[in-house]
Amino acid sequence: MERKSKAIIIVNMVKDFLEPKGACYCGRRARRIIPYVKRKLISFWKDRSLVIYLRDTHRSIDREFTVLKPHALVDTKGSDMVKELEPTNKDYIVGKRFYDGCFDTELGRILTEFGVRKVYLAGLKASADVMETAAHLFYLGYDIHVFKKGVADPDSRSYKCALKRMKSLFGCKLV
Ligand SMILES: [Zn+2]
Repeated sequence: MERKSKAIIIVNMVKDFLEPKGACYCGRRARRIIPYVKRKLISFWKDRSLVIYLRDTHRSIDREFTVLKPHALVDTKGSDMVKELEPTNKDYIVGKRFYDGCFDTELGRILTEFGVRKVYLAGLKASADVMETAAHLFYLGYDIHVFKKGVADPDSRSYKCALKRMKSLFGCKLV
């Protein structure tokens, strides 16, 4: 198995969060990170680092829907990546049904298989899925980086609070 030194994990850059008609549209703050995430994606492609897309693939019975309105259901367009960030066939796409991208998913196994210890997080939302995933990666001992300009929240207070918490609680390096 080929070893990789680092991975980018792109969280929930899917149509239901990024298209104005999407079920959980996160607004212009979220759309604004698309070009930045694309540049990072290209640089990870170029140096042949691991690229993982982590996205919601919910079932209608999911616990999240007791508190949020339904979004990104499995096998619907809402859980497709936005066209600007389409994966290549070398990238990994990991579906998840909870905020935490390590819970009951393949993420940890893929990172282990490639021997990756250094991860870079981008995507949505900073204060929810990105932060919950960062927390779990912290418990698992990863060296975590968060792209400040590559994560977003619908409101600036949540964004700031999320970055602060990821740094102070989970040792994330804000880059
Ligand atoms: Zn969700």
